[in-house]
Amino acid sequence: MAIRVYNTLTKQKEEFRPLREGEVRMYVCGPTVYDYTHLGHARTYIAFDVIRRYLEHRGYTVLMVMNFTDIDDKIIRRANETGEDPKELAEKFLRYFLEDMKALKVKPADIYPRVTEHIQDIIDFVRKLQEKGYAYEGNDGVYFEVRKFKDYGKLSGIKLEELVKGARVEPGEGKKNPEDFALWKKAKPGEPKWESPWGEGRPGWHIECSTMSTKYLGESFDIHGGGNDLIFPHHENEIAQSEACTDHEWVRYWLHTGFVMVSGEKMSKSLGNFVTIRELLQKYSPEVIRFFVLQKHYRSPLDYTEEGIQHAKNNLERLYNTLENIRVAMEKADVAFRWDEEEFELYETVREARKKFYDAMDDDFNTAEALKAVFEVSNAVNRYLTKVKKPKESVLKKALEFFKIISEVFGLFEDYFKEQKAGDEEALIELLVSVRAELRKQRNFTLADKIRDELKALGIQLEDTPQGTIWKRISV
Ligand code: AMP
Ligand code: ZN
Repeated sequence: MAIRVYNTLTKQKEEFRPLREGEVRMYVCGPTVYDYTHLGHARTYIAFDVIRRYLEHRGYTVLMVMNFTDIDDKIIRRANETGEDPKELAEKFLRYFLEDMKALKVKPADIYPRVTEHIQDIIDFVRKLQEKGYAYEGNDGVYFEVRKFKDYGKLSGIKLEELVKGARVEPGEGKKNPEDFALWKKAKPGEPKWESPWGEGRPGWHIECSTMSTKYLGESFDIHGGGNDLIFPHHENEIAQSEACTDHEWVRYWLHTGFVMVSGEKMSKSLGNFVTIRELLQKYSPEVIRFFVLQKHYRSPLDYTEEGIQHAKNNLERLYNTLENIRVAMEKADVAFRWDEEEFELYETVREARKKFYDAMDDDFNTAEALKAVFEVSNAVNRYLTKVKKPKESVLKKALEFFKIISEVFGLFEDYFKEQKAGDEEALIELLVSVRAELRKQRNFTLADKIRDELKALGIQLEDTPQGTIWKRISV
């Protein structure tokens, strides 16, 4: 079945057909790095992580780009408040962000373009807009002339007339019309600045995403995402800039995440009602946070409460419990000399759940529905294990394979699957290495060499070094 995605641009679910067969090019707006990452950000990045993992699971090569806004009004303001250098402040929070994402098992983007490393590309983009008559220079910067772009408003549905009504040009501002936005800001004293054809200054916010996404993903690409709050003006302005530049459609599918809410309000830095990832990780495991996020569809609002997270923790524990039960049962399970009704019942539940999982994920990445299928399998496994005296390995494996898919796509149960494979294997290799050392001490070189040679045939190479024997994996 084909994957269907809700496209903010067309306001409907559409069949997902990437531009190049077998490949998805995807851009997600990254953070402005001036403070710690909070749960609202994490929700958005976990959601896109799962979308990316699912596309990869379905066989696509995904090229993923996420920018870092490492120069911006907010960064300069915060640096002035704390007395730090804006560059250092941005660097610090950028690194914290990467650490937080790693902790949350969000797969890293392939490219993380930073604004400060793409100033020349941005200048070239602005010049092109100027040459094409979409941009003009004012006393304090270069502006995009919104009314020249005929399709303005197509993403957010905002009409130019409405925009003009509520706004006015402030005294001292160099723009012609209230709806115009800055592509380049001329430097005020003491602000970070770069040379440009319009004198010293720095890029506006929206232009960075048009420039850097196009640079790495091409003049048209498949998915562009971010939180709901970015639809207007950020993404609307990105479309205006990019399509004005190329005269053709830029992004095929626009995906937006719902907000994390606290008592009816958006979790945000400015409202101060946020909980940072670092705080949460002191009390909960990364997988609890992922589970909490995935219990809701990515476009729905997600209410943050302590009880909600606690509830997610309990549910995740239930699933871990089931996995543990499977592990214990597998240890004593035998090959199946026969299957009875109980085996077929569990088999059918897993088969149906697998289908439900894929149907849910194909339907605009509905993780909430997909998780229901996981609980169905979990309950069925536990029922099976209480019912039968001698559980059959083969049918338990079917359940385990299902959990493995969930692990890969949702980034859950990772420790369980890793531990089981790597942990056992490494301990056994260490054991053989020490037995071989003992044999050598006893001058039993024939047997010692046999261990070395047979391990090598399995892809494990032993090397005797002055510090003792080390082992490496090699491709055989
Ligand atoms: P910012 O650094 O504020 O530009 O935010 C980075 C990303 O996090 C953007 O895609 C925002 O839309 C998203 N975001 C910020 N706050 C929330 C929230 N409360 N819920 C969901 N996403 C959010
Ligand atoms: Zn952006």
